[in-house]
Amino acid sequence: MTAEVKRVYAFGKDAEGNNVTEGNTNMKAILGGKGANLAEMANIGLPVPPGFTITCQTCMEYANADNTWPEGALDTIHEYRLDLEKRIGKKIGDAEDPLLVSVRSGAPMSMPGMMDTVLNLGLNDQSINGLIKQTENPRFAWDSYRRFIQMFSNVVMGLDGDLFENAINVMKNSRKAASDTDLTAEDLQELVAEFKKIFSENVSGVEYPSLLVDGVVAFPQDPMVQLKLAIEAVFGSWNNPRAVLYRKKNKIADDLGTAVNVQSMVFGNKGNSSATGVAFTRNPANGQKEFYGDYLVNAQGEDVVAGIRNTSPIAELKHVEGLEEAGKQLEEIFVVLENHFRDMCDIEFTIEQGKLYMLQTRVGKRTAAAALHIAIEMEKEGLISKEEAVMRVEPEQLDQLLHPQFDKNAEYDVLARGLNASPGAAVGEAVFSAADAVAAAEAGRKCVLVRWETNPDDLAGMIAAEGILTSHGGKTSHAAVIARGMGAPCVCGVEALKIDAEKKQAVVSGTDVVIKEGDMISLDGTTGIVVLGAVELVLPELTGDLDTILEWADEFRTLGVRANADNPEDAQLSRDFGAQGIGLCRTEHMFLGDRKQIIQTFILNDDEDVRQKAVDQLFEAQTGDFYGMFKAMDGLPVIVRLLDPPLHEFLESPRALDVEIARLEATGGDKGVIAEKRALMEQIDAMAEANPMLGLRGCRLGIVYPILPVMQVRAIATAAAQLKKEGLDPKPEIMIPLVSVVPELAKLREVAEQTIAEVAAEQGVELDIQIGTMIELPRAAVTADEIATKADFFSFGTNDLTQTTFGFSRDDVEAEFIPQYLQERLLPFNPFATVDPGVAKLVKMGVELGHQGNPDLTCGVCGEHGGDPDSIHTFNAIGLDYVSCSPYRVPLARLAAGQAAIEAKKAQ
Ligand code: PEP
Ligand code: MG
Repeated sequence: MTAEVKRVYAFGKDAEGNNVTEGNTNMKAILGGKGANLAEMANIGLPVPPGFTITCQTCMEYANADNTWPEGALDTIHEYRLDLEKRIGKKIGDAEDPLLVSVRSGAPMSMPGMMDTVLNLGLNDQSINGLIKQTENPRFAWDSYRRFIQMFSNVVMGLDGDLFENAINVMKNSRKAASDTDLTAEDLQELVAEFKKIFSENVSGVEYPSLLVDGVVAFPQDPMVQLKLAIEAVFGSWNNPRAVLYRKKNKIADDLGTAVNVQSMVFGNKGNSSATGVAFTRNPANGQKEFYGDYLVNAQGEDVVAGIRNTSPIAELKHVEGLEEAGKQLEEIFVVLENHFRDMCDIEFTIEQGKLYMLQTRVGKRTAAAALHIAIEMEKEGLISKEEAVMRVEPEQLDQLLHPQFDKNAEYDVLARGLNASPGAAVGEAVFSAADAVAAAEAGRKCVLVRWETNPDDLAGMIAAEGILTSHGGKTSHAAVIARGMGAPCVCGVEALKIDAEKKQAVVSGTDVVIKEGDMISLDGTTGIVVLGAVELVLPELTGDLDTILEWADEFRTLGVRANADNPEDAQLSRDFGAQGIGLCRTEHMFLGDRKQIIQTFILNDDEDVRQKAVDQLFEAQTGDFYGMFKAMDGLPVIVRLLDPPLHEFLESPRALDVEIARLEATGGDKGVIAEKRALMEQIDAMAEANPMLGLRGCRLGIVYPILPVMQVRAIATAAAQLKKEGLDPKPEIMIPLVSVVPELAKLREVAEQTIAEVAAEQGVELDIQIGTMIELPRAAVTADEIATKADFFSFGTNDLTQTTFGFSRDDVEAEFIPQYLQERLLPFNPFATVDPGVAKLVKMGVELGHQGNPDLTCGVCGEHGGDPDSIHTFNAIGLDYVSCSPYRVPLARLAAGQAAIEAKKAQ
């Protein structure tokens, strides 16, 4: 810890009403997001209950020292506790007028619901009397005490929450009470005794010797013991499995730690002039400028998020008797916060007997549609610049907008409706637990997770499912918040669903429908509709806000964006998405289906005539393919790569043949057929290579079988000539793969040039077709100056370049050991997804050397990394001319390239 970073920072006011806050919003790495913004709200004069924040660094020191407190830390916390008591004028645990505190986690990056919180801390057998005296509300006091014991036992001691829920249900049944609120003060007092008994019976005295009183475990009465254990639990929750999983999914570093906020409690459950709620300053689902959120009268914060009671919309708050003033003040604060943070904010608040308190604010999570709309509106409102608007949308989020939707022409009956919590449509088998969702996904089956309401333990299932459906909870419930963050479709609060998770079924009230596990269901998170059966899904068009942001991104970006496409439909789609050309047409993809037979004939026959006939057939087919491609991309470059994969990829698997032969033999099959199959198997076996990815593929194929590149180049040139004659402007380019030495490229270039010249002469048109190469082998990258003398362009094949730089088999290692490497942090990320710095160095070297060999060289990238935002930043910095990616990544690549340019400009 550096000298300037203290262990604990105060926020809020002192007894005289002076602001004594020590932090601010820029200190998220120290105070966590929640602590930094509580400080900021106090600094700008908003009503924040006083408290203090223990730093993230203290959490990490504690964790790194095997859960041992750093020297002096507990003393400092004790001092700040005393100071807080002085500021408030109340003491924790006091029998007359006790101070109660909340203990909440708050990491530098938002991790909603992933870590722990304890409320009402400070209650004990003494202070309960003080609380009764002060509130003159014994029911409220006993309810607070039982909530505290329940939460403390569950969160801090790890006891099963059901132990307490069962005790409540037993009590409710015996009192014939329909709801918790029907229980009296006496009932709750009895529950407190019962809860303490549960605590004593279930907490291990061996594990917690400090809790032993006369040899028996007792619920801790000393507030400092309560506080210490609660802080330790929050520290510990940084490393709970769901938090670790969330960090991995959201690429959050493990060494940030969480801060702990100890804050004086305010109560939203002190009667009908009290309330609690969560809200957004704009609609986080669609970005509309409206106050958005839910509140509950006479309730505590977790009740809103847990979806236990159905909430009311925030816009109604200022019309509720006793809450009018607070409601109006809250709306004013929404505006203050937006202007201050210059972004949509997400807020937690509590109203205690008519007085409003702000408990949290942060920049709110939003759907992609909302991110676009808010960025554009805020630019129009003059709140942010165009550059900032472009920076406000996460490229990966755009995937949400390209998510499937119900086909408008599909016919279906709406089974039930709920809240449209997270957009996009999903179809899958109904599953009723997170574990079943994970199992279905692992078995390759699409599923929809159906839950009463999700909780953080469901995270793995939520990730595995196509969509999420809940019967309870509002738009700010756990399911809604998490689904929006993940971009997963979600419909929540479908009250008609009566879910029986144990029986794995849901009855739909008002119908005779029972959804059973495995039944196909469809949901539309954009409209809130649930349908029994599989609805046809379609992909949405790109219009409106997305177009605007992409056009703004285009204004800033210098990196071109092309697409990897190998059929006219994908070419057209990528053009519609804004691709400026085709960066890679993999011709091997044109050799599938019926064409496979023809190429097999070519490979397996030595007879020149048979071979020539096969090649002629391929020429016809390929000319048609290229004609369609060049037409769809009229006026834009289309890079066609000559055949690349090992030839036996087009042949049947010898293993499958072996099995078939055995089967034929066992069933007395035709001897002639068996002999034929055996000969074929032997022929294919003879062609097998030990390392086909390092074998006869790429340009080596063209050198061994020159008839193939001649056929392909002829087809390219013929299609181009035909289109030229039709008055179009085809711009094909020919790319030679897997080159490692100049003579390979020189030889194939010569073949291509000669063929183009022949076709031009035959067709009577001028053909200007560029010829370039892929750089996908380290040798090519380090001798790029030589290679560039024979190339008009380079396209970096970073898939193979990653494979050959690391010596990692691209087809195997992602399943084999990369997960373990990532787990153990031997690699910071998967190098096949995001370009590795070592590979990027080779690309940089290739670009620099390449320009020495040919100053007019065009350089792009067409490996998968071309569609990865982080890699796009790297390629932008290297100075490539374009990236090329799959059609659906084109919008994302345009945005990421715009952002990279803006950041580069800022860094200058
Ligand atoms: C590459 O290697 O990056 C590339 C684009 O080619 P392919 O994936 O077809 O090998
Ligand atoms: Mg390759």
